[in-house]
This record gives sequence, structure tokens and C-alpha cells, in this order.
Amino acid sequence: MPLLPASGLTPGSLFACLGLFAVLTAVFAVRASRGMPGFERPLRLWAAALSCVAVAAAGYLARPWLAGPLAYLVPNLAVLSAVAVMGMSFATLQGGQPRRARWNWALVLLTMAALLGAQAWQAPYAVLAAVAATGLGLLLLHGALLFLPQLRVRPRALPETWVLASLLVVAASFMLRAVSSGADLWTHHGPWSGHPMLVVGLVFVTNCSLAFFSMLHERQRTALQHSYQRDSLTGLYARGVFFEKAQAALQMANVGEAFAVLMLDLDHFKRINDTHGHLVGDKVIAHAARLLNSSIRLNDLAGRYGGEEFCLLLHDCDGERAQRFLQRVLHRAEQPLSLRDGRSLPFSFSAGFVIFRMEDKAPPLEQLLDRADQALLQAKAQGRNRAVQACGEGLCPVP
Ligand code: GH3
Ligand code: MG
Ligand code: MG
Repeated sequence: MPLLPASGLTPGSLFACLGLFAVLTAVFAVRASRGMPGFERPLRLWAAALSCVAVAAAGYLARPWLAGPLAYLVPNLAVLSAVAVMGMSFATLQGGQPRRARWNWALVLLTMAALLGAQAWQAPYAVLAAVAATGLGLLLLHGALLFLPQLRVRPRALPETWVLASLLVVAASFMLRAVSSGADLWTHHGPWSGHPMLVVGLVFVTNCSLAFFSMLHERQRTALQHSYQRDSLTGLYARGVFFEKAQAALQMANVGEAFAVLMLDLDHFKRINDTHGHLVGDKVIAHAARLLNSSIRLNDLAGRYGGEEFCLLLHDCDGERAQRFLQRVLHRAEQPLSLRDGRSLPFSFSAGFVIFRMEDKAPPLEQLLDRADQALLQAKAQGRNRAVQACGEGLCPVP
């Protein structure tokens, strides 16, 4: 008795559906890639994967007319390539591990070599089917392994869970087919054997395409949000967004919670521009921003206040902690920035900060920034490359 009952549809009509769906989706992906800067590569790879699916469908349809080994090798190579390219497309979309996805090709080559070998030894059809199903199953399992980190980034996201579940179910189906290809679990009718696998494949390709476009939409939405919230040179929050987020954080603070509001400014930056040009100046600003961004914790906020000035809001931060943070930043800035042409550019920060402990009502953020700015002016007046704290009504230099 077959494990999966064959549907009433003929295999030919199922192959035609699969091929048509693949061609239409590939055309759609190519057209979409033209209007989606930043996502061309995953879309083109998806189009390539679906083209392979279309070739495979056409190859299986044409099997009765294809000569000798071609009848088996062409469609199998197309199916294996489709899964390998799908893996590359997902990896590129995630910005994750396109390199590891290249190992897919090792599995494709290995499976094809095994198929060629089996063909050369004139192995029975069940052996060829088992080899192809094992290769495909392993490729799908490898795809699932590559996909796992994505679930850590967005743990309960539906499209990601859907893709992973599809990969695992289809990998298990092919493995089962591989181990049982000699038994009577599947309907074997010459070239149409594995008819239920065709239904599995059709559902898999449709599923993954839907999930792919849904993930693409999500990535595009995030990228768009990122682009209007972030300053384009530094990647830090734009001034207005920083204000909004920092004010919201202060409003939501619990009584007794302490925050540090910091203003930092690059020292003698005009000289850098005048000596090395504005492009180099931009590089220094971007480098300084990276330095700040990599020094804060996940829930802290960093914004570009304007020009070569930055503002930070550090959560759960008292005076001592803010001092330690600034000492670390000033120390890291002592390492000059190395340019590609071999020049190295020394630069430094001055900083002012104020500590605020939540009592019953949060003060306006502008007031805190103004106090931090006064402390910053003091740091500049005292000789730069240092930090000053605004404490009480006065200012105290940081040792
Ligand atoms: P101080 O130590 O007192 O802060 O001196 P400074 O030279 O850093 O300060 P000043 O305010 O005199 O100069 C800041 C300069 O930063 C002037 C402006 O042209 C430059 N600047 C502002 N925004 C940018 C930018 O996006 N890129 C570059 N390259 N320069 C910028
Ligand atoms: Mg400056
Ligand atoms: Mg300035």
C-alpha cells in the first residue's frame, strides 16, 4: 500500500502546474528586483532557483523522450541546483552566511557523482531513486541547519518557522523515500515513480516562495524604518528620533532609576577638515560614531546631535559608571584612525554629562542636554580630551 496516496491528478498535470508556477514566480522576482535596491541579489537568486525548478519540471515531463542517462540526470541536477540556489537566496536575504551556503554545491556534486556512478554500473531504478532522494534529503537538512540562526534573530516569526518546518518535513520525506525506495511504500510506475513526492515538492516550492516574499517584505520594511530613523553617515539615531526615544525612556522610568545624559564633541575637528579634506573628516565622524555605538549596551541610545557632536542616554547609570564609560571611550579614541593610504589620524573627544535619578516626574530632556552641554563647554575650556560632570548646580571635572 502506498504511504502517500497518489492524487487524482496525472503527474503530467502536476509537473505542468509546478513548471508554470516556477516560471511566473521567477519572472515576478526578476521584475521586482529592478525596483528594490539592496534586495536585487536574493531576488535574482530566487528567480534562478525557480528557473531550475521549471527546468526540472520540463525535464521530468520530457523523460519518456529523453535519451539514456539524460532522462535521469538532467531533472535531478535541476532539482538539486534549485534547492542549493534557494539556500543561497535565503542566506543572502538574511545577510547571514552566504559562504556556508556554498557547501550546498559540494552536496550537489557528490549526489551527481553518485548518480553517474550508479548509472554507469547499471544499477536498478530503486538504487538511483534512493541515491537522488538521499542527496536531496541531505541538501534540505543542510538548508535547515543554515536557516536555524535566523530563528534566533526573530524567534516566533511565522515565515521563518514555516520555512524551517517545510525544510525539515520535506527532508524527512526524501530520507524516508531513500530508505524505503525498494519497498512497496511508494507507487512505482517506471519513470513516474515517486508521484507523491511530486505533491510534496509542489507544496514545498509554493510554501517557500510565499515565505521568501513575506521575509523580503519584512526586511524591506525594517530597512526603510532604519533609513528614516538613522543618520546616513554614522548609522546613529537622527537627532529628532533620539529625542523621541530618549524622552519616551525617561517617561517610562521607574522611581529610583538612574540615567546618564552625555554630550560628546570631536576636538579641533575643523582642523581635520581643513588639513585632510571633508571626505576624511566624514570618515573620522563615522569612525567616532562606531566607537561610541560599540561601547554602549543594547538598551542605551546614541544619536548624532549635529556635525561632529553626539548625544547618548545610558540606562541604569550612576556618576561612577558614566565616568568609567567615558574613560573607556576617551582611551579607545587615543588609537589613531588608520586610513587606506597609510595615513593615521589622531583624534579626541571632549564630553559633558549629567546624571538624573527618577523621582516622581521626569525633567524635560532639553534641560538635561543643556546641562550636559554646559559641562562639555567646560571640558573644552579646560583643554579638551576630557570629561566634565554637571553635578548639583555646578560642574565637577572627572578625574
Ligand atoms: P572644538 O574643539 O572647539 O569643538 O573645535 P572644532 O573645530 O571641532 O569645532 P567647530 O565647531 O569650530 O568646527 C566643527 C566643524 O565640523 C565645522 C564643520 O564644517 C564641520 N562639520 C560639521 N558637520 C560635518 C560633516 O558632516 N562632515 C564633515 N567633514 N565636517 C563637518
Ligand atoms: Mg568640535
Ligand atoms: Mg561642535
